[in-house]
Amino acid sequence: MPTGTIPRHMKQMRFTSPLRLPLQTGGTALSTVLFTFVLIPFYWGLWPILVLYLMGRDASRRRASDIVLSSDGLEVRGGPHHGYAAKWSEIAPQSTYVKLTDEVFYKQGDDPTVFMQTFVVGDIELARGGDVEEVASFRALASLVEQAARGVAPGVSAPPNVGMCPSCGAALVPVDDDTTRCAYCAAVVAVPPHVREAVRATAVARREGARMTTQVRRTLTGGRASTVNRLVLACGLSGQAAVPLAIAAFVEHDAGLAFIPLVVPVILAAMARAVISKRIAVRSLAFGCAAIAPADPSHAPSCRRCRAPLAAVDELGALATCAYCGATNVLGIDVGNALAGAEGFAEVDDVIARHRRSVAKSWAIAIAGLAACTAGVLLSR
Ligand SMILES: [Zn+2]
Ligand SMILES: [Zn+2]
Repeated sequence: MPTGTIPRHMKQMRFTSPLRLPLQTGGTALSTVLFTFVLIPFYWGLWPILVLYLMGRDASRRRASDIVLSSDGLEVRGGPHHGYAAKWSEIAPQSTYVKLTDEVFYKQGDDPTVFMQTFVVGDIELARGGDVEEVASFRALASLVEQAARGVAPGVSAPPNVGMCPSCGAALVPVDDDTTRCAYCAAVVAVPPHVREAVRATAVARREGARMTTQVRRTLTGGRASTVNRLVLACGLSGQAAVPLAIAAFVEHDAGLAFIPLVVPVILAAMARAVISKRIAVRSLAFGCAAIAPADPSHAPSCRRCRAPLAAVDELGALATCAYCGATNVLGIDVGNALAGAEGFAEVDDVIARHRRSVAKSWAIAIAGLAACTAGVLLSR
C-alpha cells in the first residue's frame, strides 16, 4: 500500500483490525440443493446418479465463503477458494470486477432468465452465484477491494448544513457546549443553539436504542460460511435419503413413520436460510449503515448518509447517531465509501427488521414442516 503523502481529499484504506465480510452468502448453493429435491419424483435408472453428481458439484462450487480484509491484503475463508490470499500491492484495481456469465441460474415461465455473475479479483474467479443477495455482496466487495487496492478512497466532504471551522474549513464535530475546538487547527468556534439541541436529542435517542445496539452486535457476530455449508450439505443428503426411507416405511405399512424422514431436510433448509439471512444483514449493515472512518484515527468518523462528523458514541461503542440528519451509524467497520450497490444508505432499524422477518419466516417453515409431520403420524395411527 502506498505510504507517501495522501492528498487531503483522499483517505487511506487501513483495516487496522481484520474485517471479515460474507463473499458468497450460500443462497445459490441452497437453491441448487433444493432444486435436486424437485427432480426426485423423476428418478429412474442411472439418472439420479447424474443429477446428484452435477448438482452436488455445482452446489459445492458455489458454497458459502467469507473474505477477510486486513492491512496486508485479502484472504478468502471457506468455499472452493479457501486459503486464497493476495497482498494489496499484487492486486491491480482494474482487475477487480463483477461480470455477467452465460450460465443460467434460474428461468421460470415468461420471466427474463437470471444468469450467474462472477466476482473476479486479479483475473481469478473467487465466487460465482445468481442469487440476488449474493450478487449484491459481490458488487459491494468489488468496489471495496478496488478502493483498497488503490490504497486510498475518496475523502469525505461534509454537506452544506454542517458547521465549518472559519479558519481551516474543516467540518466541526457537534457538541452540547457553548464552544467547540476544531480537530484540525484547534480554533475555538461557537456552537449554534440548534446544533446543541440536536446533540441532546441524539443522546436521548441513544439511551432508548440500547436494545438496537445489542441486536446489531448479535447480527455482526456469527453467521459463518462454514455453518451455512454444513447445513446445506446435511439438507441435501437428508433430502435425498428421505424419499427412499419414506417409501420403505410406507411399503412396510407404517405410513405414519414415512413423514419423519421428510421433515428433517425441511428443518435443515429453514436453519440454513436463517444463517444466510444473517450474512445478508451483515453486508447491509457494513455497506449501508457503517460510519465512514476518518483519515486520521484521532478524528471523528463521518455519517454515511449526510457525511457530517459524528459525535455521539453509545455506551457499547457500536452505534452513533448523527446530530445533523438523525441517521444511526454502525461503528468499527471501515468499508470506505463503498456502497452496497443500488441500496445506498440503509436505516439500521430497517436492516434489523428485515433480518428478523426473514428469520421468523424460516422458523415458520420449520414449524409448518414439523406440524405436518406430527399430523401425518397422528392421523395414520
Ligand atoms: Zn479548523
Ligand atoms: Zn448524518
